[in-house]
Amino acid sequence: MSQLHRPFFLVVLLASIGVSRAEFQAGIAVRVVTPDPLLPVSGGIGPSKPTTKMEGDLTVRALVLADGEGAGATKVAIVSADFLGFPSVLGQRARALVKGIPPENILIGATHTHSGPDAYGFPDGKGGTGADLKYLDSVVTRMAEAINDAAAHLRPARLKIATGEAKGKIAFNYYADRLYDPRCHVIQAIGQDGQPFATLVNYAVHPEVLGSGRGICSPDLVGPLYERLREKGAGIGIFMNSAQGGMVTADNRGPDGKSVGTWEECIRIGNLLADEAMRIVSSAPEQKQPKLHCEARSLTFPIDSPELRAVIAASPLHLGEKDATNATTQFNLVNIGNAQILTIPGEALPNIGFYLKRNMRGEHNLLFGLTNDAFGYILTRVDWNSFKTYSYVSRTCLGEKTGEILIEEALRFVAEAPAPEKLAQR
Ligand SMILES: [Zn+2]
Repeated sequence: MSQLHRPFFLVVLLASIGVSRAEFQAGIAVRVVTPDPLLPVSGGIGPSKPTTKMEGDLTVRALVLADGEGAGATKVAIVSADFLGFPSVLGQRARALVKGIPPENILIGATHTHSGPDAYGFPDGKGGTGADLKYLDSVVTRMAEAINDAAAHLRPARLKIATGEAKGKIAFNYYADRLYDPRCHVIQAIGQDGQPFATLVNYAVHPEVLGSGRGICSPDLVGPLYERLREKGAGIGIFMNSAQGGMVTADNRGPDGKSVGTWEECIRIGNLLADEAMRIVSSAPEQKQPKLHCEARSLTFPIDSPELRAVIAASPLHLGEKDATNATTQFNLVNIGNAQILTIPGEALPNIGFYLKRNMRGEHNLLFGLTNDAFGYILTRVDWNSFKTYSYVSRTCLGEKTGEILIEEALRFVAEAPAPEKLAQR
């Protein structure tokens, strides 16, 4: 064999036996999904509301992580989409278009903006729906494109992972002021040039400053959050919501206590959350070769709520069988370096969030709410149908057992999966 051919032969040999180089990699990509022309927007069950303008673009974003190169590497995609929720029927179609990442390693979350087009096909009360199926097809395509693009542009990366309290007027609990989780978790990818190129922000809040009733299509506060991260050198942002149910919302209370529902207020809150996330991650140590582990199980809940049964039965997206008695979705656990992530397919109340984080095994414990599906609110049986204030969240919860099933399955998952690494031991 000539000298000329040897390097080629080696490359082929490495590829054929699936050896992966051990350098940690990350990639991030974005696709704009603002409808053109604009579509009505949805802030919950019921008819969509008409729009006349947009503030900021709706996007889908994919952060792909890999613990090396080549076929032997573990790859995980974390996807965020500017919708109220992203049902698993659409997520499964996007997963099927992705090459090189197993579908069970793709986590798809919704930011929960209340100013985006309906992705569920909610009944409009007149026998139809505000959902535009052609538009949703294009979102699925663009989501898969973003994932494939991020995977095709993986680059060596170190990670900074941090948890801290986001200070200032960002979120509050609409039902009981201070009953919310102020912790903000950040995962930042740093390139070989020492510059951050991707920043994941995980925080519990309803992006509903604008809501669906102002004639505006918008990512709400998540749009300005991304803008600020980019402007301040944090690279491309990706927001994953957390346990924001009943009713952790944006703190847009004005001096008179009334909500300020303006784009300027979205900018104020988005900027503040971005600044806090950057402050929190700034002093975190770099993890040069974080271990990556991803598992998926299926999670099934009985559907007892007549409201949610009616939504499933009426949706042209075929969210489930017509007389479905159960709802099943993908449930993920991911370890990244010293962090652990669990997904929640809906809007868990903040007390469930605290309890799960306390029982997880990472030095940083992240919950990705509204991820892999969004089945409505998730309450424990003692909260379900209790306070008068909880009547709305109880009706839009799958049933009395939902919270307990999530907690039990989550604890089992955490106990049976390997624990993430401890930074101190590295
Ligand atoms: Zn909500």
